[in-house]
Amino acid sequence: MLKKEIAYKPIDSLKSPRFSGVRTFMRLPHGSNLEKADVAIFGIPFDTGTSFRPGARFGPAAIRDASSILKPYCPLTDVNIVENISVLDYGDIDTVPGYMDDSFAKIEDGITKICKAGVIPLGMGGDHSISLPLLRGLTKVQGGPVALLHFDAHSDTIPDYFGRPYNHGTPFYWAIKEGLIELNHSIQVGIRGPLYSKDALDYPKSKGIEIITGPQLHDMGLGCAVEAIRRRIEGRPVYVSFDVDFLDAAYAPGTGTPEIGGFSTHEALQLMVGSCRGMNLRGMDLVEVMPAQDNAGITALAGASLMHVFLAQIAKKIS
Ligand code: MN
Ligand code: MN
Repeated sequence: MLKKEIAYKPIDSLKSPRFSGVRTFMRLPHGSNLEKADVAIFGIPFDTGTSFRPGARFGPAAIRDASSILKPYCPLTDVNIVENISVLDYGDIDTVPGYMDDSFAKIEDGITKICKAGVIPLGMGGDHSISLPLLRGLTKVQGGPVALLHFDAHSDTIPDYFGRPYNHGTPFYWAIKEGLIELNHSIQVGIRGPLYSKDALDYPKSKGIEIITGPQLHDMGLGCAVEAIRRRIEGRPVYVSFDVDFLDAAYAPGTGTPEIGGFSTHEALQLMVGSCRGMNLRGMDLVEVMPAQDNAGITALAGASLMHVFLAQIAKKIS
């Protein structure tokens, strides 16, 4: 899959100050020529699916802004990303604010183009509803379901809100229903906080999805959690969906539905590095960054840095 030449590289921040220029992810080139890309980063500025605080539509811009501080070499993975893979900032997918179905069609169409070009998609939300059309497009192109590695404070497997099927609390209910994920190889990590009812997690569990709750993750520790995740997804095509509210509200205040009792950025990085190492990574989304209440921009920085680790794992696998 790797392109022979690395066509797309970031601007050299030792020659051009990293606070100058037009913002793209990690100062990568912006364009639509997928032929020369291994990974395409794209924004989905859409928050019609939010149930509480709106504003995730501004997430991609905030993540791009924060990402200008990222550098090519990833010490956690021991790899130089830009010397091993060609990464393009593909811009944003246009949506129709206020209209779920129209927006989902455009998002599915967008990721379908990326996947058909043999390019790994890395999407920036947007609220979590976008994962459903992303999974629809990705699985259609590859011709089968993916193992889902889902970091979140919430399971997002409620069938409907307000009598309507789609919002950011329902994407994985529909992904399960539509056969988009390999149930016996999927895992949800970090689920915590108050629920609508005691049996709110029964549905994903009854379908065979493994859940490591937030309290369980705190008790078992990072090493055991990484082992459990790897056992689950190894050898399968893997899609990572990272809701930034997996992080504790202290580390991710800029998000639509914050939860306490969560995890630090250090813990999230360790889990991503340990879980994704050597895996067959087919795509990722990083969702729910909401800059309006993001004190000091820390949530956007966390999101950009977790995307950086994902890129590093792809680069490491083929380096
Ligand atoms: Mn969440
Ligand atoms: Mn979510």
